[in-house]
Amino acid sequence: MPNLFTSLRTTSINTLASFVSPSGKLARLSILLYHSIPQEPDTLLYDLKDARVFDTQIRYLSKNFNVLPLHEAVQRLRENTLPSRAACITFDDGYANNAEVALPILQKHGVVATFFIAAGFINGGMMWNDKLIELIRRSPGSVLDLSEINFGKFDIGTLRQRQETLFSVIKKFKYLPPEERHARLEQLCHLIPVTLPQNVMMTTEQIKHLYQAGMEIGGHTVNHPILTRLDHEAAYTEIANGKKILEDIIKAPVRLFAYPNGKPSQDYSAEHVAILKEIGFDAAVSTAWGAAKTGTDPYQLPRFTPWDNSYSRFMLRMMQNMFRTIHTVS
Ligand SMILES: [Zn+2]
Repeated sequence: MPNLFTSLRTTSINTLASFVSPSGKLARLSILLYHSIPQEPDTLLYDLKDARVFDTQIRYLSKNFNVLPLHEAVQRLRENTLPSRAACITFDDGYANNAEVALPILQKHGVVATFFIAAGFINGGMMWNDKLIELIRRSPGSVLDLSEINFGKFDIGTLRQRQETLFSVIKKFKYLPPEERHARLEQLCHLIPVTLPQNVMMTTEQIKHLYQAGMEIGGHTVNHPILTRLDHEAAYTEIANGKKILEDIIKAPVRLFAYPNGKPSQDYSAEHVAILKEIGFDAAVSTAWGAAKTGTDPYQLPRFTPWDNSYSRFMLRMMQNMFRTIHTVS
């Protein structure tokens, strides 16, 4: 027999959620954002959601929200016909574990998600931050000596030290111009004699598999650059080529886009919104927190990542997010 308190609590939280996020003109669209979903907790990256946490969140979401494919949600947002408690699920970058770990969980709960894939890393590639993570994870010994490239020496004997080293090295890399970052990373690969994994990002077959399973594939550029740091032509090429590569794989149009890093003004500008329209995208998502509502620019839809494992906290966090002021560029 179901626990009476639990069912009463679920009913009242759901009533509140419908009040905050009704159907039609006053609807709110919550778009969730995920990245890598490892099968087991990653001890080095303790804030990463593993399969168990992801499964719990998708269970809460599928039971308490009307989860829609993003293209349908955007259409209904434009027409003011969203259902109450409307939600979408999205993934950025194209991690292989999205196909291996997240897909079966999505299918178990009967929901569709959109995968925004940086096309330059398909089939064995890796983004610079993941390369750093895997290099430092695998570094042998208890000291990492990077003085040869003027980064100093780091103690990595304990897990805590390894985490701190990773964060400080990532910080040093983050603000380097892309060419210098690439060169430094090559030097680091020579300094740390370890074999890097080839299966971090999706393969062509995994992308096809996701698409054939009814999932949506979205553009995320080729090399995941910060668009605001590129000139117009380079930004256009990154966006257009990323779209083309994915379309050649799934043999269907790619009409949804996620800005790399995604912070309005900082990572993309009105210039990039215009490029998306010109190239034929229907909608795009940022990483500004909040939930979309009538009048929100469909090319700058906000997203949100809840971090709670408990049902009531998850629901309250989702509701709190619906009241945020949405940041966009104009
Ligand atoms: Zn990304």
